[in-house]
Amino acid sequence: MLFDVSLLPKNNILCVDMKSFYASCECVDHGLDPLNDYVVVVADKNRSGSVVLAASPKMKSDYGIKTGSRLFEVPRHRRIHIFNARMKRYLEVSVQITELFLSFVPFEAILTYSVDESWLTLNGTEKLHGTPREAAQKIRRTIWKQFGLPSCIGIGPNRFISKVVLDVYAKQQGIADCTYEEVPQKLWPIPLRKIWGIGTKMEQHLNNLGMYTLGDVANSSLERLRSRFGVMGEQLYYHAWGIDLSPAFVEANDLPQKSIGKGVTLLRDYWRENEILTVVLELCEEVAKRARQLGKVGRTVSFGVRYSHYEKGGFHQSVTLDTGTNLTMELYRVCKRIFKKFYDGRSVRMIHVSLSNLMNEESVQLSLFENREKERTLAKAMDEIRDKFGPNALLRAVSYTSGSLARIRNGYIGGHKA
Ligand SMILES: [Mg+2]
Repeated sequence: MLFDVSLLPKNNILCVDMKSFYASCECVDHGLDPLNDYVVVVADKNRSGSVVLAASPKMKSDYGIKTGSRLFEVPRHRRIHIFNARMKRYLEVSVQITELFLSFVPFEAILTYSVDESWLTLNGTEKLHGTPREAAQKIRRTIWKQFGLPSCIGIGPNRFISKVVLDVYAKQQGIADCTYEEVPQKLWPIPLRKIWGIGTKMEQHLNNLGMYTLGDVANSSLERLRSRFGVMGEQLYYHAWGIDLSPAFVEANDLPQKSIGKGVTLLRDYWRENEILTVVLELCEEVAKRARQLGKVGRTVSFGVRYSHYEKGGFHQSVTLDTGTNLTMELYRVCKRIFKKFYDGRSVRMIHVSLSNLMNEESVQLSLFENREKERTLAKAMDEIRDKFGPNALLRAVSYTSGSLARIRNGYIGGHKA
């Protein structure tokens, strides 16, 4: 390995995913079997163009219907059950599942990524729950027993590895893990599009440079990726080596400050995308400005829309970023992505944007991947070290950053050994 893994932070992190969550919830509520019945959840049963928000595993395997398919693609068959989405219900179940997690780990060890995905940090729970794999089995069994819901779990020394191993292996195997040492064997063969954080556009750029798998990225060079993609390229390079220095615990100090949000009720119904997005941009600007005034950045961006009275319903989604932000365009990009994914053309009456998972701006500036200014300085420092002492000296820079991260963590979270 190019990096000395003994210097990297070793956390026990689980990434827990509720399998076909919305569809599974409907199964449980309607006496169906989440694993063996054919269930589809759509935004609106009465619109043939309505988007499929979830499909049960059988629906995926036997009919190829998945999230993002359209209702008209779903065959009409007695054994296929179609339900309207009930977001409030799914959120309710999601909260109950988080409460269950709280019986395994403390609050600051849980990071909710989306309504059906969470990271749990198990550091220090070995005596209580055994090895990470044993804990994962226990959690999976408990979710099944209490809710009748199937789940899968990825295990790794950091969030990135646990998430990738979840997406690529655990979704088939139920539970899967990967250590730093196993990164070349388990993660490098994976095609780029399956890697969390690499979108189709980024994949295309990398393909053009002759990189098709994560291993190709790892065996490219930091300089090449940095000069081509800047900060993103740098992070990608480290990720390819399984390195992710994002904190393993939610910063306890910052838990009480909940969120900064802004919503509007429109004076008339809006349905033109560019009209709606203009309002979204204005809201993002207000939220970001407020965050900047308070000296805060937030990692979770939430965006919601309510349809007009006669249409009823709406959607509300959150995305948790790797990095805290208080930049208008970063918020806007996330909201726009959610909008493009969930908006089905109905007329809109209310729009809401909020930023949560807040932390102090200056606390973020200390960690490698969480601030651009620091990243640039650090990158320069790494270059200098390498020029002076040769490529292996990079290890010092890595140990320096993980050390500074450990210091940050120790400062913020008393009682938890990282
Ligand atoms: Mg899921």
